[in-house]
Amino acid sequence: MSSEKRKPATQCVHAGTYFDQHTRGVTSPIFTATSYGFPNPDNASLYPRYYNIPNQRVVAEKVSALEEGEDALVLGSGMAAVSSTLMALLKPGDHALFQSDIYGGTHHFVVDELPRYGIEVSFVDTPTADGFADQLRSNTRLLYIESPSNPLLRVVDIAELASLGKQRGLCTVIDNTFATPINQRPLAGGIDVVLHSGTKYLNGHSDVNCGAVVGSCEMIDQVRGVAINHGATLDVRACYLLERGLRTLALRVRQQNENALRLARFLQEHPRVATVNYPGLPDHPGHEIAARQMDGFGGMLSFELAEELPVATVLERFSLVTPALSLGGVETLICVPSQTSHSKMSPADRQRAGISDRLLRLSAGIEDAEDLIEDFAQALA
Ligand SMILES: *Cc1c(COP(=O)(O)O)cnc(C)c1O
Repeated sequence: MSSEKRKPATQCVHAGTYFDQHTRGVTSPIFTATSYGFPNPDNASLYPRYYNIPNQRVVAEKVSALEEGEDALVLGSGMAAVSSTLMALLKPGDHALFQSDIYGGTHHFVVDELPRYGIEVSFVDTPTADGFADQLRSNTRLLYIESPSNPLLRVVDIAELASLGKQRGLCTVIDNTFATPINQRPLAGGIDVVLHSGTKYLNGHSDVNCGAVVGSCEMIDQVRGVAINHGATLDVRACYLLERGLRTLALRVRQQNENALRLARFLQEHPRVATVNYPGLPDHPGHEIAARQMDGFGGMLSFELAEELPVATVLERFSLVTPALSLGGVETLICVPSQTSHSKMSPADRQRAGISDRLLRLSAGIEDAEDLIEDFAQALA
């Protein structure tokens, strides 16, 4: 069987592993050197900031195999992946179109940095192919989406957006952090570049800050060139932890999908919950598209508390679920987007975006669903 045809759970365990011929150990050794002999048989200039140390290549190959890309690059953070990609693909005089409900850090980079380099940016409130098509300019070069999005779990039709990009000769980029390659592989749907905050699901244990970019060899070469100049390298020890985390990605994500769906159903029935946003619920506006383009609906959901229940009281009552920032780890976390990820937005902008002060965002962990439901039941009682 060709190794490219293997299923995601198999790729998680095996893709990219560096076999040490001498000891025949089953895991990749860690290459700590920052200096390598030269000349050498391949005349390769190995150096960590060139992203070509075996541990960096091992984990890039694993992520590439999972996303069905030709090549990948792993970097020091998700924002390094976002910034290196945008700086590589855009030049002065270009225009780029972004979905408006993207990750806050990405939004800041786009509005604070890109215009300083003469790059025009604008935001699309209705993230459909038509919504993007309506805002195209003669100098538009790039379309950027996140699906499902943060914190309302909006779903974008990936194939439709990719086909708009192909028709108009534009580069399409997706931040696939929330979905993970276990649930969604956008390159197969025609998207050009996939980005990840590996800090979240890919590493999955809330203990490594990293990012990844996946695409064609040509795209990755372009991004690598910029990333080498910007120096957002990932240390080999962090690479090893990321490799280890990725080995269980498929198992973790399956459990997170299941836990999120069970919690979504429980919350939907609860009298003290006003609304639940989860693409796996049949009444979610993006359910049909999600069912078509995803293998699972993901571990993220959000919900709005009914009027009578103070948000602070509910947060205090949890005994298992942890109020905390970030997402994608093995532990179930909850946060209030209006106070955390979206606190820099004005109250009016938040209201327009549909992010109320009573909205809570949940990242389902891999605990037993019965225990999670029990904790929610007592916190909402
Ligand atoms: C966290 C996150 C990022 C940024 O990643 P860092 O690793 O924190 O730099 C980008 N996109 C999404 C969707 C995220 O959740």
